[in-house]
Amino acid sequence: MAKVLYDKDANMKVLTEKTVAVLGYGSQGHAHAQNLRDSGVSVVIGLHEGSRSKAVAEKDGFKVYSVADAVKNADVVMFLMPDHVQGDVYRKSVAPNLKKGAALAFAHGFAVHFNQVEPSKDNDVFMVAPKGPGHLVRRMYTEGRGVPCLLAVEQDATGQARDLGLAYACALGGGRAGILSTTFAEETETDLFGEQAVLCGGITELIKAGFDILVEAGYQPEIAYFECLNEMKLIVDLMYEGGMGWMRYSVSDTAKYGDLTAGKRVIDDHVRENMKKLLEEVKDGSFAKDWILENQSGRPRMKKWVKSEAAHPIEAVGKELRAMMPWMDAKSAPDA
Ligand code: NAD
Ligand code: MG
Repeated sequence: MAKVLYDKDANMKVLTEKTVAVLGYGSQGHAHAQNLRDSGVSVVIGLHEGSRSKAVAEKDGFKVYSVADAVKNADVVMFLMPDHVQGDVYRKSVAPNLKKGAALAFAHGFAVHFNQVEPSKDNDVFMVAPKGPGHLVRRMYTEGRGVPCLLAVEQDATGQARDLGLAYACALGGGRAGILSTTFAEETETDLFGEQAVLCGGITELIKAGFDILVEAGYQPEIAYFECLNEMKLIVDLMYEGGMGWMRYSVSDTAKYGDLTAGKRVIDDHVRENMKKLLEEVKDGSFAKDWILENQSGRPRMKKWVKSEAAHPIEAVGKELRAMMPWMDAKSAPDA
């Protein structure tokens, strides 16, 4: 296994004497800001005019500034606003106010890897990406534990970038769980590929295909929903806790035999070829370019697709069935 770093490997002094500006106070922002503060780091928050997060950050006891003012006195500037706005924010509010020798930090590599943020040669650039959502990063920290983090250094201007990034990851609680090294390219490309091919794109289409085929064959949509969507959680939880072996051990022998005979016929060479094409489009930047242009034109295609996905029958039947499950804190997305 690759080398894993822990609290004992870090020199916290390189960070505790510094001021960190956390830009954005959403899922990741609230966790980074509070964990760093509790680790003895001085933290200020930078938000855009009219941000709904301002009141939350102030309630949590932070000083909230404009992005420009937060950046002016900061030694480390952590970007925790949505990835697609980071380029604009960097050019307009960060770069003109950045202290010489200050470090730029990220929790995902998209903006730097696809040249939306083009740092000057004088700045350290590192990434600390916790492998969990912000509320878990915060909760684990308060319980004396941590969420594993990825650490990458894109640019080392001061000779201290890696030490600083490692100290940041430890201040976040990552050093209690383990910190793995990566690069901006590896983190960004695998993240985009994973969400497209497997996690979000792959799984929703797999579920819908199964559901559609059962319903078209005359089975009840309610039964199709249970089989293709609801039970997915059970199976994923088993794999999450004990790998595929534990899942196969836990299901019936009939399910296991069906899994082993049918899976490869569904995800066949043709699907793997399509996945390879997706990876190529991530690596050569064509996906990033498409996504940036879609944002620049106000997301017209995305809005249309979200609407048509919301109209798929699995969504209506799911809503009714979830209401019958009292143990579940059922959620629903706001209208597109
Ligand atoms: P989020 O949508 O939860 O929060 C975004 C925050 O940015 C909000 O406080 C919002 O008010 C603020 N914001 C929006 N526009 C801004 C602007 N122009 N200037 C300043 N602040 C602005 O975002 P998130 O999910 O916490 O993601 C932040 C970063 O963390 C992204 O790079 C993301 O890829 C990365 N990341 C997220 C997760 C996760 O679980 N959510 C995990 C790992 C990495
Ligand atoms: Mg992702």
